[in-house]
Amino acid sequence: MLNISEKLHAAFQKQYNKPADNAFFSPGRVNLIGEHIDYNGGLVMPCAITFGTYLLVSPNNDGVFRFKSLNFEDEYTIPLKKSYEKEGTGWHNYPIGVIHHFLKDGHQLGGLDMLYYGNIPIGSGLSSSASIEVVTCFSLNQLFNTGYTKLDMVKLSKSVENNFIGLASGIMDQFAVTFGEENKALMLNCETLDYKAVDSNLGDYVLAIINTNKLRRLAESKYNERVQECGDALKALQQQLDIKNLCDIDTPTFNQYKHLITNPIVLKRAQHVVEENDRVKLAAAALSQNNLAEFGRLMYASHDSLRKLYEVSGKELDAVVEYSKTNKNVAGARMTGAGFGGCAIALVKGAAFEQFSKELSAYYLDKIGYAPSVYSSLIGDGVGVLKDVPAHA
Ligand code: ADP
Ligand code: MG
Repeated sequence: MLNISEKLHAAFQKQYNKPADNAFFSPGRVNLIGEHIDYNGGLVMPCAITFGTYLLVSPNNDGVFRFKSLNFEDEYTIPLKKSYEKEGTGWHNYPIGVIHHFLKDGHQLGGLDMLYYGNIPIGSGLSSSASIEVVTCFSLNQLFNTGYTKLDMVKLSKSVENNFIGLASGIMDQFAVTFGEENKALMLNCETLDYKAVDSNLGDYVLAIINTNKLRRLAESKYNERVQECGDALKALQQQLDIKNLCDIDTPTFNQYKHLITNPIVLKRAQHVVEENDRVKLAAAALSQNNLAEFGRLMYASHDSLRKLYEVSGKELDAVVEYSKTNKNVAGARMTGAGFGGCAIALVKGAAFEQFSKELSAYYLDKIGYAPSVYSSLIGDGVGVLKDVPAHA
């Protein structure tokens, strides 16, 4: 049986009538803990997963970029120009956005034939967008010797998302996808970009990723509302505290000054932020000591806080966590991402994954009326030249 790399090389040959000279892979990511913290100057803890985006590419002498994705019907041939603007809603805007940024930085590019394939669920919060941006950026950097550092590539890809695609997202996704390391979580301050790779050996556990298959329709408006509420809490605390961000204080200090926040809703939001930031530090310690039971407890605590204090969960994400709490082979579970749908994660004994997946799906179907999608992942490496193929691919 052909492995995924062989299949993609065959697909490239069929598409372009020539072999692919280069192959790259960039993962997706999940945030293990530290939710709705990035815009409060606190710590997030994402990791790269073993699902992501493959890119096979060969130069051409035709002065065009040819884009084909095995995930989409539409394919594109775009002439080499001096600059580009976003056109329509086609997926090619992601690679074109990257190309545009290379040109803007004054780099000379030549024509390319490119074939993409993502085995990551697209549009469900696992950051297939950062994955396609970063794999494109990495490949161009390699092919045209542009000399970008990893951090340059993170920033360039983020700028594609913000300024070319037009989504006001933070830096965590591109950072995790680029700097991810096998069996390490990245404890990252999104404002200062200080980070620490935390040993995260999952032992006989796997990372279950559960896509609720619920669209994140409310996410954007509620996100803006939460940002505003955190701003209000900060202002109230600044009456007596010299702080720049909510996460500049820990829980004991917060408890001492929380009377300054008179709006009970705003108080709840701030409590989540401060306690979640403390949980990230505890989670990093637990992971590096291989204490998955404690890490799992913190995952559940994070979810409960997002549900009750921050109010960004929903019955779908809650159903996943409710079921997980009944299964003794699960160390912990929580929603991940902005909330209101998208994905949850759970730490599940590898040997019990199939049973977990089956029972959870039945529970969820009964409760919600449609099935979730359940994936088993490990903590993988960041972007690079395509080497070993993940076993499940
Ligand atoms: P998420 O990042 O949560 O997966 P987004 O809506 O931010 O969702 O990004 C999804 C978009 O990224 C897709 O609609 C498509 O335009 C682009 N994309 C991601 N992966 C691929 C792929 N393998 N091939 C082509 N386009 C892709
Ligand atoms: Mg995205």
